[in-house]
Amino acid sequence: MNYDVLVIGAGPGGSSAARYAARHGLKVLMVEKRPDIGSPVRCGEGISKSWLPEVEIDPQPIWISNEVEGARIFPPDEKTFIKLSANKAGNEVGYIIERDKFDKYLAALAAREGADIWVKSPAISLIKENNKVVGARIRRQGEIVDVRARIIIGADGFESQVGRWAKINTMVKDRDIVSCIEYRMVGIDIDKNFTDFYLGSCAPGGYVWVFPKGKDEANVGIGVALNKLKKRGEVKRYLDDFIEKHPGLKKGKTIEIITGAVSTCPIPQTIVADNVMLVGDAARLIDPITGGGVANACISGKLAGEAAYEAIRNNNTSKEFLKEHYEKRVREKLERKHLRNWFAKEKLSELSDETLNKLVDAIASVELSSISVKSLLDAVQKKYPELVKEFEDLI
Ligand SMILES: Cc1cc2nc3c(=O)[nH]c(=O)nc-3n(C[C@H](O)[C@H](O)[C@H](O)COP(=O)(O)OP(=O)(O)OC[C@H]3O[C@@H](n4cnc5c(N)ncnc54)[C@H](O)[C@@H]3O)c2cc1C
Repeated sequence: MNYDVLVIGAGPGGSSAARYAARHGLKVLMVEKRPDIGSPVRCGEGISKSWLPEVEIDPQPIWISNEVEGARIFPPDEKTFIKLSANKAGNEVGYIIERDKFDKYLAALAAREGADIWVKSPAISLIKENNKVVGARIRRQGEIVDVRARIIIGADGFESQVGRWAKINTMVKDRDIVSCIEYRMVGIDIDKNFTDFYLGSCAPGGYVWVFPKGKDEANVGIGVALNKLKKRGEVKRYLDDFIEKHPGLKKGKTIEIITGAVSTCPIPQTIVADNVMLVGDAARLIDPITGGGVANACISGKLAGEAAYEAIRNNNTSKEFLKEHYEKRVREKLERKHLRNWFAKEKLSELSDETLNKLVDAIASVELSSISVKSLLDAVQKKYPELVKEFEDLI
């Protein structure tokens, strides 16, 4: 089995990489360990619209469950909220999608460009020669197959093994991991037009989200930073407590439970090795403040697919080449915002409920059209002058 490119994992990152590599005429194989691409879903299913044209994804009714106007950010006392229009609200606000259908749609785009796809086919190890990765061992529906490839793209998500196998250090500290649980709830009172975010001690180091899938149905989830949890199961208690305190949610029924984790760290030192590139969650590209990773997975997948073509055309798949033609572009595109959001996350997770109440109260009074560092600082200065020093740098 010989391919130009082997993509391990068929999430949004893998399918985008396979799609763009195949488009350039490379012989591409994408392997997925699960029998059904996209399922089971492990996602709040919120995405923004702004990045879709960049990766040539046309919104399709089949994977759009709901379209929202914007986001509301609630402080711990919930006395007021900040309302942001969708274009100002970041990576998770715009559409609420059906992730299983979205992931299958992206895999189909890759297939239509000519990529081969094997489902129920986990990569179980990498094949190395002279200390360089030259392929992977795949358990293809029970049968062991060795696949050789000139480029291997690790798109195997948050729990990525490809990075570790290729000796790329993508270790994440506890304080940069957010443990999540989400209920899909029906029969609840929500505003279908807004994705809601709740900050503070209800979700230490993270937040509670309510992403509406329909008029009385939503993904209600929580993420809590691992270093704030005494034991893993505690995250469920936080979500149950939150629901208990909200009669509009408490009266609902849960039809699905999912769990998972996201990284909220800066981009690692490197995300490439000789013949290997990491994309999406495997490369720790999740937005540290929102925990949204679908957009960056697709964007990095596209860049990796294109870089694979350049590397093979130039007959140079070395770490240095991939660093220059893939990693550098990822950093140019994403790193500034990524670092800024990581810093904001660090800062926000240390603020007390009382400070958050004041912060949101002050910002809520600013007209949306005039959101700027200066207008925010002015608003805070006017209402709570004593607070300006505390989060001047954050704002
Ligand atoms: C609870 C929760 C809520 C979230 N909510 C949102 C949200 O609302 N919006 C948003 O933008 N992001 C959200 N995210 C993050 C988002 O889900 C990820 O950032 C996104 O899925 C990353 O895409 P990916 O392709 O890198 O990885 P994944 O989507 O994780 O895909 C990796 C794929 O690789 C496969 N795989 C793994 N190991 C192997 C192997 N050895 N061999 C073959 N295949 C393998 C997996 O089965 C999987 O299909 C959420 C995450 C969690 C946990």
